[in-house]
Amino acid sequence: MTTTKDMAYWHGALATRNPLLWVNPRKGEALPSDAPAQEDISEAFDRLTRCEPLMAKLFPELRESLGKIESPLFASDSLLGMEQDGAPLPGKCFLKRDDLLPIAGSIKARGGFHEVLDYAEQVARDAGLFPSPDGYRALASEVCRSVFAEHKVAVGSTGNLGLSIGIMAAALGFQTVVHMSTDAKAWKKDRLRQQGVEVVEHEGDYAQAVAAGRDEARRTPRCHFVDDEHSMRLFLGYAASARYFAAQLRAEQVTVGPQDPLFVYIPCGVGGAPGGVTYGLKQIFGDNVHCFFAEPVESPCMLLQLVTGEDRSISVYDIGLSNITDADGLAVGQASRLVSRLMTGLVSGIFTVDDASLYRNLLFADEHLGVQLEPSATAGMGGMRWLMMSDAGQAYVREQGFDMRRASHVVWTTGGSLVPEAEYRRFIEMGHALR
Ligand SMILES: *Cc1c(COP(=O)(O)O)cnc(C)c1O
Repeated sequence: MTTTKDMAYWHGALATRNPLLWVNPRKGEALPSDAPAQEDISEAFDRLTRCEPLMAKLFPELRESLGKIESPLFASDSLLGMEQDGAPLPGKCFLKRDDLLPIAGSIKARGGFHEVLDYAEQVARDAGLFPSPDGYRALASEVCRSVFAEHKVAVGSTGNLGLSIGIMAAALGFQTVVHMSTDAKAWKKDRLRQQGVEVVEHEGDYAQAVAAGRDEARRTPRCHFVDDEHSMRLFLGYAASARYFAAQLRAEQVTVGPQDPLFVYIPCGVGGAPGGVTYGLKQIFGDNVHCFFAEPVESPCMLLQLVTGEDRSISVYDIGLSNITDADGLAVGQASRLVSRLMTGLVSGIFTVDDASLYRNLLFADEHLGVQLEPSATAGMGGMRWLMMSDAGQAYVREQGFDMRRASHVVWTTGGSLVPEAEYRRFIEMGHALR
């Protein structure tokens, strides 16, 4: 249980903006009764798999991979020695490279593509055009396109979700509108406009862009709003990642079991992506997978919601934080309640990270791993240090009696491959300036 005293303690600790690790005292509690079932995740997985021929048809760059939207898993033991002063940490380490997910260049491809494809399927079904002997490829037919052209897909986003939804919906022929906050990057807006997507800019933060989008969508007939704060379709698209990932671990001969713990570190914004991935992994690995989220010190919305409890919503502004961070994908003031409810008993812990560390991580990834990331996507890189070098992390390891030489760590890198060269150079310069 989280007591009022604990809550006050964590509110105070977060308000200092000092990076910290919180370990979840409620891990192991039962899921709410309306939590999605294994079959729901399987359905999302099957939909994405069956859509592969469609994807190959829509996007020429996917022909070689036969339309698969997946990312590689790379062994990366040099991350275990990341701090120059410390000795290398024990265990094995991997990077799950969602920054390389095709077309969208970020983890948002998983949830975003799933939701648009699911919606397209529904519209085609309602029009009597699906199921078809041609399978999902039928969704790219002229007759389907002409139906989709009568429908609108809308989303509110700080950037990456907008890219993912916008690209996919426009490729299928939907009218597409993306509502963006002022902090969204110009290149993301430009890229969307080039695809024929309408981009509407809003003063204020991510939540305001989402609210404005939701409102407009409600007033527009035949308009589907992809709601980052409340969408189960997005969540299930992220959760579907677990099955392929489990196969990749097996291919790397990684054993996961009571003596062989798997630790996963994922950046968290509104919570859908890391929450969905965690949900899927828990279905497969149960107690043997330990998922930690990473949030900016100015935007620890999920941590704040979890320490506050489910009785009320709370935003980072309520404890005096600014929600201003260069980790644009993580600049979210208020966590998704859909997701926070599901994470109460599942997430192992959450650590916070300041912007300077994000740039240092980014530079390290560039120089030592040969990996080009955006700032948000590097947030999980400090996870192993938190686990093995902090009091709270050590207590977590000790309580469960792990021999950490048998542990495997996976740092989920969530975006970056679409960042324009000039923008990336600027990130690297920031890294040098802060080293
Ligand atoms: C959106 C995003 C996340 C976090 O996903 P949420 O669903 O918002 O929690 C992490 N990394 C990157 C690069 C993102 O774009």
